[in-house]
Amino acid sequence: MTQSSPKTSIRSESDKPLLGISRCLLGDQVRFDGGHKRSRYAEETLGQYFRWYPVCPEIESGMSAPRPSIRQVQIDGELRVLSAKGTDMTDALRHATERRLEQIAVKPLRGFIVVKDSPSCGLERVRVYDGSQPTRSGVGVFTAAVQQSYPHMPVEESGRLNDDRLRENFILRVYTYHRFRTMVENAPSVSDLMRFHAEHKYLLLAHNPSMAKSLGRLIAQCCRDDLASVLDEYEAEMMSSLSKPAKVGGNVNALQHIVGFLTDQFTPESRQHMQDTIAAYRAGEIPLITPITLINHYLTAAGTDWIRRQWYLKPYPAALSLRSRI
Ligand code: SF4
Repeated sequence: MTQSSPKTSIRSESDKPLLGISRCLLGDQVRFDGGHKRSRYAEETLGQYFRWYPVCPEIESGMSAPRPSIRQVQIDGELRVLSAKGTDMTDALRHATERRLEQIAVKPLRGFIVVKDSPSCGLERVRVYDGSQPTRSGVGVFTAAVQQSYPHMPVEESGRLNDDRLRENFILRVYTYHRFRTMVENAPSVSDLMRFHAEHKYLLLAHNPSMAKSLGRLIAQCCRDDLASVLDEYEAEMMSSLSKPAKVGGNVNALQHIVGFLTDQFTPESRQHMQDTIAAYRAGEIPLITPITLINHYLTAAGTDWIRRQWYLKPYPAALSLRSRI
């Protein structure tokens, strides 16, 4: 019997999802101090699986490197961006952001990696000055605009990618978003959406069982006439349900459901081995990749195409080794 598992191998450069990235993370010396914030993980590892779309909003605003640093300041209830020399850079930064968003509109962008604390690129807790004491309440001007235009696209700070669970969750979201947007861009039918949902059933279940059910109900109501609005709603709910890493209990739930499709294939010994492996994962003794690998092993000889096509079993290229660390 041949296996038909999800296709995650990278066939060519154009198959790689396009990821936005703050330019300084690729080693470009565009920071205010003339330096960079090179991310080795982005450059050396992710660079093998993604095409980059580098952006430096400050350079695109006409600032040079080096340059006086800038910061967000509340002035008369309005958020402004001032340089250390007091020059108001707000309009230049906003215009550069608008120009860049017009270019992004025709790009198949699937995610963005940005820089912590930057008044232009920060994702959260950016310093906002109101008087002398800053509050950590801001979002970078450029990143805020990207999130407003693409509210479901995964955006993450480079520093948070050092956390194994956050890193895995970001890459999982990027690939899931990539599959969904690729489907939408190819004028999907109702049956395409149904197939997408069926193949992501256990991925969604592992993250959020109640949301997985609600997405199933949404699809059941869908008819050809309102497909566009169903796609919008589906995308919003799906990406929201994936926004946090799956918990151990959620993964155990998904694993047990999938194992249920293999019951006929097990001897008493192999069934016990499977259950012991899942229990060891639940106890934190082994990583998630171990029960997944065991299941994929059994699926080479048994199981239906439907269960083999579950993206939960291979949501991104296995060589990224993300499930070996969670
Ligand atoms: S504006 Fe963004 S890309 Fe440019 S140097 Fe600052 S953090 Fe890096």
